[in-house]
Amino acid sequence: MSLLQDMLVYNEEFVREQKYEKFITGKFPNKKMVILTCMDTRLLELLPQALNLSNGDVKIIKNAGAVVVHPFGSIMRSILVAVYELQADEVMVIGHHDCGMSALHSDSMVEKMKERGISDETFATLQHSGINLEKWLTGFDSVSDSVTHSVEMIKRHPLLPSGVPVHGLVIDPKTGKLDLVIDGY
Ligand SMILES: [Zn+2]
Repeated sequence: MSLLQDMLVYNEEFVREQKYEKFITGKFPNKKMVILTCMDTRLLELLPQALNLSNGDVKIIKNAGAVVVHPFGSIMRSILVAVYELQADEVMVIGHHDCGMSALHSDSMVEKMKERGISDETFATLQHSGINLEKWLTGFDSVSDSVTHSVEMIKRHPLLPSGVPVHGLVIDPKTGKLDLVIDGY
């Protein structure tokens, strides 16, 4: 059975047996916070439990590295939606140690793309269109510097209302221990 089939079969049972009941909650976060964190698999359950978060408590936005790359990209838009439309009063950025983005180098990823059939013409076209893959596909050296940078991007955003604290933290993906980088109060 494929992974997809596997999930669909399980899902039928999940719904039929009403296993969803313990997750029922509203769309507004009980703890009035929006968290940006990394898509790392180790954080899937660890992060909510290490922060004492249950379904319905917070908004969580995830991407590779917990990074705000662009002030008008989808991450910043999601944060603003959470603040203006969904009653989040605080923002928290949580990076983590041993993040895949800290080891990301564009040349090795471009090499893998070529191996998987992306043509030289495609790279040439992108380059001519002004897309800088080297910059776009490069991660960060220090997770706390990266968290600090993202916190600054959010805090200084022209559309973020004043009085919204923006915190920065780093989590250990094994123990769940949090280190405070920036106290937004
Ligand atoms: Zn990560």
